[in-house]
Amino acid sequence: MKIKRALKLSLMAVSMMVIPVLMGNNSNLNYNVMDKSRVKSESLKVNLGNICFYIFSDGYLTIDKPQSTFAPNTPSADFKTEMQNAHLSENTIDLAINVMMIKTQENTILIDAGLGRHFGDKQGWLVNNIENAGISRDSITDILITHAHRDHIGGLISNEEAMIFPNAKYHIAKEEYDFWMSENPDFSKSKLSIEQRKVTIEFTKKILNRIKENVVLFHPGDTLFSVIQTELAAGHTPGHTIFTITSEGKSVKNIVDIFHAPLLISNPEWGIVFDIDFEQGIRDRKQILEDCYVNKQLVMSSHLPWPGLGYIDKRDKYYWNPIYYYTPLEINL
Ligand SMILES: [Zn+2]
Repeated sequence: MKIKRALKLSLMAVSMMVIPVLMGNNSNLNYNVMDKSRVKSESLKVNLGNICFYIFSDGYLTIDKPQSTFAPNTPSADFKTEMQNAHLSENTIDLAINVMMIKTQENTILIDAGLGRHFGDKQGWLVNNIENAGISRDSITDILITHAHRDHIGGLISNEEAMIFPNAKYHIAKEEYDFWMSENPDFSKSKLSIEQRKVTIEFTKKILNRIKENVVLFHPGDTLFSVIQTELAAGHTPGHTIFTITSEGKSVKNIVDIFHAPLLISNPEWGIVFDIDFEQGIRDRKQILEDCYVNKQLVMSSHLPWPGLGYIDKRDKYYWNPIYYYTPLEINL
């Protein structure tokens, strides 16, 4: 009923927008009739060879006082200058939460599940967006968990701990699963405070324990579902899995959490406190930047500005070059 109502309201909104335009008078547009869930809706279908993938928004994260997160060892004057050059406030950075879903002939594979509704309404838009695209959450057969940070696994369960995707198997790297499920996950190379570590470990353990009966372990390097070639980028978390999907000679590399903002592409040495091995994270970032640049590789990212698709290019520094696309809902690569 809810979906039908949303569709009906959307159609009403569209028809109310179209009629005044056809009449040559758009001064009476009433945007208030739009369903709120549509206002927050963001989804994009991408056709790649003979498969397709979707990108859905789960919302966004706001990081206040961002220097302590993005550049803890950098002189503040340098940080300030970079922020000004990027036309950003030095007080806050917003991070997108872009979630990929891959459809093959046999499987519907969600890549992570966003943060869910556990921390307010800036996140947790994923299910609405999947259903608005005409896909039932019951039809998702598999979820590839790239790593077990809250903004990637929170959306697997509701605030009441119900399973959001009841028919899915959960694929996660053995290295990642073992790290979080161990008695004392090793954060000795991290810059997170003791309190932040504690909260992170508790939340992750809660979710992994809830789904553990349907977990399937793999090793980075494995090919999953014939089209997903996985790789390990262990600085962010010990089993942080990035991957490339390929079909008919075309490919996209999902670099997941290698860059949380374009600023880290231009300044990979800044580092980010979310990396469990801070120095390894910097080395991973530099290596992946160079590989993507040299190979002119189309890249998808979990946190770069919506929809997180683009290229790494270079002048005196590397920079993010988002792809141009001209249709709001569907593109062909
Ligand atoms: Zn993340």
